[in-house]
Amino acid sequence: MKTLIAANWKMNGDLSWAQKPEVFRQVFKVEQESVDILICPPAYLIPSLVAASKSLDISIGAQDCHFATGGAFTGEMSASMMADAGAKYVIVGHSERRALFGESDEVVAKKAAAVNDTGMIPIICVGENRGQREAGQADEIVGAQLIGSLPENTYPATLIIAYEPVWAIGTGLIPTLEDIASMHDHIRGILGTLFGENKASTVPILYGGSVKPSNAKEILALSDVNGALIGGASLDMDSLAAIAKCAP
Ligand code: PEP
Repeated sequence: MKTLIAANWKMNGDLSWAQKPEVFRQVFKVEQESVDILICPPAYLIPSLVAASKSLDISIGAQDCHFATGGAFTGEMSASMMADAGAKYVIVGHSERRALFGESDEVVAKKAAAVNDTGMIPIICVGENRGQREAGQADEIVGAQLIGSLPENTYPATLIIAYEPVWAIGTGLIPTLEDIASMHDHIRGILGTLFGENKASTVPILYGGSVKPSNAKEILALSDVNGALIGGASLDMDSLAAIAKCAP
């Protein structure tokens, strides 16, 4: 499986970022056959980035969508609108959406289903908070979130999971390599129970939370880590390129 390096720009960036394709070329120049690069900008930049990256081997994705296909949802955008804009992937259930916008597992599962319905791939985020980790509940919490956030009748070829411990996002802290490996193994095990071991082995499981050029190599080298979801460090193209170069 290729390593996926996924950038989550959150609410950062502007049109000038998409109008300077030379800025991105250094990232796209990472000619590693083993790496796929995905950039998830704010939704309004998706069409410009799709145009700017046309001749470059990267994908553009979205950071969220509504689960409904349309209707009276002021300010929201549907999965098919994201697909229309050129997105190939949609992040769903990011901890900021769960914490700041009150999204439950059920809502995340509906969003993931809506993303699948358009032919795009949802990147379903799960992760424990600091108190849960300290109380030894991380496996239990992440397992329940994962099961609750998967769409009904889903199948592994249309899924990506991102393990993002909430306490590691934007803090500079990361779990030990043993803890990352153990959680990815736990997630793989749950997917194995749901889909069978062979099919579960094809689901990319990304790690996210304070990934930087200085720690990416050792994280990406872990056997069940199939890529990274990167926030802060993805805003700087040098650092995104440096992380992509760490792919095994
Ligand atoms: C994120 O928000 O998905 C994330 C991983 O952020 P950061 O890399 O800044 O910790």
